[in-house]
Amino acid sequence: GDFSFLAEQSKAITDDFINSEVNPENIRNNLRHLTSRPHLGGTETEWENAQWVADTWRAQGLDDVHLVPYDVLLSYPKNDTPNLVRILNSAGEEVWASHGWQKPIHAPEESSPEILPNFNAYSAPGNITGDVVYAHFGREQDFKKLEELGVSVKGKIVLARYGEVFRANIASTAERQGAAGVLLYSDPQQYAPLGEDTVYPGTVYMPGSAVPAGTVYLMDGDPLTPFYPSVESAYRLPEEEASLPKIPIQPISYDDAREILGRMDGDEAPEEWRGGLNVTYRLGPGFQEAGWQTHLQVHTHNVRTTTYNVVATIRGSEEPDRYVILGNHRDAWVFGGLDPSSGTAALLEVTRVLASLRNETGWKPRRSVVVCSWGSEEYGLIGSQEWSEQFGKQLADRAVAYLNVDMAIEGNYTLRTKGVPLLYDSVFEAAAKVPNPDPSEVEAGRTTVYDTWVARQPDDDHPGRPRVKNVGSGSDYKSFLHNLGVPALDIRYTHEPEMYAEFLYHTLYETFALVDELYDIGFNFHAAMAKLWAILAVDIADAQLIPFSVMEYSNFLTKGQQEVLQEYGELISSKNITMEYFEAAVTGFSQATQKFLDDLDLLDTADVLAVRRVNDQLMMVERSFIDPRGLLGRPEYNHVILAPSTSNSYSGTAFSGLTDPLDGIQDLDPIQQEARWTQFSQNLATITHFISTASKVLSDDL
Ligand code: GLU
Ligand code: CA
Ligand code: ZN
Ligand code: ZN
Repeated sequence: GDFSFLAEQSKAITDDFINSEVNPENIRNNLRHLTSRPHLGGTETEWENAQWVADTWRAQGLDDVHLVPYDVLLSYPKNDTPNLVRILNSAGEEVWASHGWQKPIHAPEESSPEILPNFNAYSAPGNITGDVVYAHFGREQDFKKLEELGVSVKGKIVLARYGEVFRANIASTAERQGAAGVLLYSDPQQYAPLGEDTVYPGTVYMPGSAVPAGTVYLMDGDPLTPFYPSVESAYRLPEEEASLPKIPIQPISYDDAREILGRMDGDEAPEEWRGGLNVTYRLGPGFQEAGWQTHLQVHTHNVRTTTYNVVATIRGSEEPDRYVILGNHRDAWVFGGLDPSSGTAALLEVTRVLASLRNETGWKPRRSVVVCSWGSEEYGLIGSQEWSEQFGKQLADRAVAYLNVDMAIEGNYTLRTKGVPLLYDSVFEAAAKVPNPDPSEVEAGRTTVYDTWVARQPDDDHPGRPRVKNVGSGSDYKSFLHNLGVPALDIRYTHEPEMYAEFLYHTLYETFALVDELYDIGFNFHAAMAKLWAILAVDIADAQLIPFSVMEYSNFLTKGQQEVLQEYGELISSKNITMEYFEAAVTGFSQATQKFLDDLDLLDTADVLAVRRVNDQLMMVERSFIDPRGLLGRPEYNHVILAPSTSNSYSGTAFSGLTDPLDGIQDLDPIQQEARWTQFSQNLATITHFISTASKVLSDDL
């Protein structure tokens, strides 16, 4: 007989339990505790918060709660000698100096003696004097534009704006171009859109004293132990051999950037390069006053220290060796009001509710639910990358899905997700089960998180469906998806699209007060996120057949293939390179998927071995796209379909192995062009091969 209605019923029970049990007040209390002190990776307070998370999970009754320490190379400024930028006159005397610290302006904890001077992690220390050049957003195209305009950055101090690409990409491009140092700032054009008077604490916008911290390390994990876990027995590279920046890089406030920009010489910057400061934006090099120079003194240095992951489990009853993993990082640049402690506060409520679901109703997940609180994500995904390296074999074999929340919220406008096609259906369904936290949306008839999502962030390619972005890098899902091939999803509540996102991100002002007074009064958006995260986890952990949307992957590949051909088809055929095998592989995957789904209708769901066999095949789909040798020239990534963009690690693009080599190829000299075509052909062959693999794993036959 068909007993699936029983499963449906018990699912409704767990959903209702979760929806009614998640309590916003608990999340608020969690956040207040977590943000009471700075909790930077590798510090005493990071460890104390780790202990607190572990104690909380033990008290909640989770299984196998434990800390996982890693001895890693982190980076800190000098406590009492701040990094400074100075303007020197022709006699070498100081005319002006930047601020070493951010000024306390609202919450009492902003004056804590534990606050460190401003810094970018893994900057090289340095003491350099030179001319400054303005490089807009510091993207590759910006450096190219400077070159076209005849402005060289060689030996210069580059001043670039935060906000378009991952800051480590800015630093690495600048270093490659021969820059001697980099200054990073956030222009009020994006970060204080209503003017420099309409800022924190009255609004969420950036005050003139704010300085966002952040890593400038482009790789992931402990810099001294690439590819292998930084356990006691590890071999550690000499520090000089680590892939770390070789030049000093320092963030400054826009008040301080104004002092530099306002004195600069050279041509006026192109129209689009001008920001919101009341100065004439010039390219440089150097200052109008003859002989004046910029002096950059950076004391940031690397230190071996210990960082901690906290890991716990709710053990699966039938398939304890299959893991649905929930992850969030715990370390913050300062108080982490949004990043990441809003996520940590939600995670602790998720675990409380799942533990009481087990205690009160006798529910047990079919598969294990594993929860992870990562250390030192901010430095370069250190805790999660090391853990993926240490437990890579087990995870590659057994992890069903990785569900990440970095910040739970960065606004209250709509849900925003990044995820692989296999998880589209799961996140759509779960979002449709979570009541809408926005009363005005409910009044307008949109009663669920899904309703607002599809209304406010529709997918242009699939009318009637919300958009799911691709998974690039930039948070802890990276190693799961891009190294191990574990299907990954990242969820958060976000702001209006026209509003710039990261106003106080990574600054001193990301306080509890910011969240409690401005972002989420009542914590109902946090609560919605906790419900969504818990329901998703239970859905995936409990479903007899893993709820992967294989057909979505097939559609995704077909669409990606069409986009490549649309953009580069003519160029490719002009080189006499055939796309025939690639196209056949994509079509083959769609046929294999159809066959798999047809066979699934005939599956005897009472046959536990048959169910496990089909689930194993589903598990192998994402893994099929993993090239164990790594991508060409990028051994830190293994997923041949979804690699992060080479010019911005934050963004994930389908088939970047095909599009990156062809991007801007016409501007290169013939030898470089040939090298790019070789790269393209090699990538085309590997991608074709691994798509064929994905078709084969969906069948029993070799
Ligand atoms: N999430 C951190 C950031 O954006 C770290 C990202 C990374 O290292 O990839 O700065
Ligand atoms: Ca390592
Ligand atoms: Zn974060
Ligand atoms: Zn962050």
